Amino acid sequence: MLPFSFADGLFFYAALWLILIIFLWLRELHRNRRSGWELVKGRLFNCSSCHHSFIVKDSRNVVRCPKCNAMCILRKHRN
Ligand SMILES: [Zn+2]
Repeated sequence: MLPFSFADGLFFYAALWLILIIFLWLRELHRNRRSGWELVKGRLFNCSSCHHSFIVKDSRNVVRCPKCNAMCILRKHRN
């Protein structure tokens, strides 16, 4: 005879899944906060030579393309 019923086992199984999901969610929040990247349209550069798109972390207007090393200038777009 089992020391616990089927309902107790099912509850324990669901509780373990819930704890696992909460743990993974909190870990993902912590990882996102630590990396500091955010998707902002103003930081997306597009190289005019090789058409490579890349994101720059700080707010510079002129950067070098990581693929072809050409100068890329951020142009302000009107919405
Ligand atoms: Zn390039």
